[in-house]
Amino acid sequence: MKVIFVTGGVLSGIGKGITAASIGAILKGMDHRVFCQKFDGYLNVDPGTMSPFQHGEVFVTEDGTETDLDLGHYERFLDVELNKYSSFTTGKIYEEIISRERKGEYLGGTVQIVPHLTDLIKEKITLGHQTSGADITIVEIGGTVGDMENEYLLESARQLHTELGRENAIFVHVALLPYLGASKELKTKPVQHSVRELMSYGITPDYLVLRADMQIPDDVLEKVARATGIQHSHVIPAATADSIYHVPLDFEENRLSEKLSASLGLPSRKCDLAKWEHLVDNISASEEILNLGMIGKYNDLEDAYYSLNEGLRTAGYFYRKNVRIQFIDATLVEKKGISVLEGLDGICIPWGFGERGIEGMVLATEYARTNKIPFLGICLGSQIMAIEFARNVLGIADANSEEFSPEGKSNVVRIMETQKSVRSKGGTMRLGTYPCEIRKRTLAHEIYGVETVSERHRHRFEFDPEYRERMEQAGFVVSAVSPDGLLAEIVELRDHPYMIATQAHPEFKSRPTRPHPLFLGLVREMGKNAKG
Ligand code: GLN
Repeated sequence: MKVIFVTGGVLSGIGKGITAASIGAILKGMDHRVFCQKFDGYLNVDPGTMSPFQHGEVFVTEDGTETDLDLGHYERFLDVELNKYSSFTTGKIYEEIISRERKGEYLGGTVQIVPHLTDLIKEKITLGHQTSGADITIVEIGGTVGDMENEYLLESARQLHTELGRENAIFVHVALLPYLGASKELKTKPVQHSVRELMSYGITPDYLVLRADMQIPDDVLEKVARATGIQHSHVIPAATADSIYHVPLDFEENRLSEKLSASLGLPSRKCDLAKWEHLVDNISASEEILNLGMIGKYNDLEDAYYSLNEGLRTAGYFYRKNVRIQFIDATLVEKKGISVLEGLDGICIPWGFGERGIEGMVLATEYARTNKIPFLGICLGSQIMAIEFARNVLGIADANSEEFSPEGKSNVVRIMETQKSVRSKGGTMRLGTYPCEIRKRTLAHEIYGVETVSERHRHRFEFDPEYRERMEQAGFVVSAVSPDGLLAEIVELRDHPYMIATQAHPEFKSRPTRPHPLFLGLVREMGKNAKG
């Protein structure tokens, strides 16, 4: 068993996840099988109940685990499918410990952080590694070294490191070099302190990845190496890249594959990063701008729609187009009207929960339908598409979703039977992968090119089949359904070049090197009549 622990120092949000994922991409480039895990210190059992404003996107795995956004980086950089062994929080770990204790599994013993909690962490890492069949598991420890809530995670990592031996477990510490404008220099002291802090837990990092917003001169690297006692060649510079997809290439320029192979006793193999090179070439050739309006409700934060943004942008790069996403708060459309949508080459209504901004989304959808603007709806977006059509084409003025009008008489979108009795909020949605059947001679079929696909879900409400016939007669097409025929999974419009929406979240399956067909389709269509 080989493990790479990734820790963070100085500040949060400096790209520890991207660093870990890029290390993974390099290992994959050498043809190793890689698994990833993220441990977070907070007490929520999973991020599923947290607001997107607080925590960014909730990334859903195939098996329906609601996880941290960093798992999305891992899936995209490694092109792997992760699972319930990939994401743990202190809340989830405590929940298990307490339930074991209540069942009497500790046989009257005193249950303690060491050894019980730390043993459980080690058990989870081992289990994740073994069940995945990976050669190497990357374990990212969330937060920053020195946070009280992560101490027990560092202790578990330290113990596992001792048990596995230094050639089987290594530590990579990612830390920030701040730049001081007045003296025009990158300061190394915070990094030195964070390494010292890590050492106080009994952990000496094998590698230091230094983040800075500019190129890091070699003398700074050397200074850090000398002050921390870490081998100079293991102090890796990581200047902020033009694109995150450049990071694996930047690391490899530093011969990281060779160094990691030596540290972990891996067979020396060539590292093939051709697909990253190809992607980065496409990115730099993507000059023509396509303006895509994202009419959502969590717009202030790029993190909230992270995978969706990546999916759409990378679909752009595939065609060497620069998809510029304009975040337009749906409430702004309500206040200012459709004038804020002028000049857009395409419109996307993303996922969302709760009532705020819904009417603005309906207006934007009507605008896309009547002006034949390429349109893609994601989850909530598909429900909005049904509501808009029912209201403005069928004339059902009060058409709505049960989510926003629980007592409404014309709810074309309803709560699923299986969700009715559910009171608890955590992990109770329709989650994870479900197959669906695509009808032939539909846009969906043309886009996917196959008749059965499976996509990941995260929602409670569904299009009500009661309305299906009437809507279909008027040109609304249910182009994919669940295998039992009941749930509408993809909907589209007959008399529109590209107006399509899915109840699922295609962004979770899209890969930068293999963008999702629904995103590719949208970009292709936007490219046809781009206003530039
Ligand atoms: N709020 C809607 C539902 O729960 C849509 C959810 C989503 O967009 N993921 O069904």
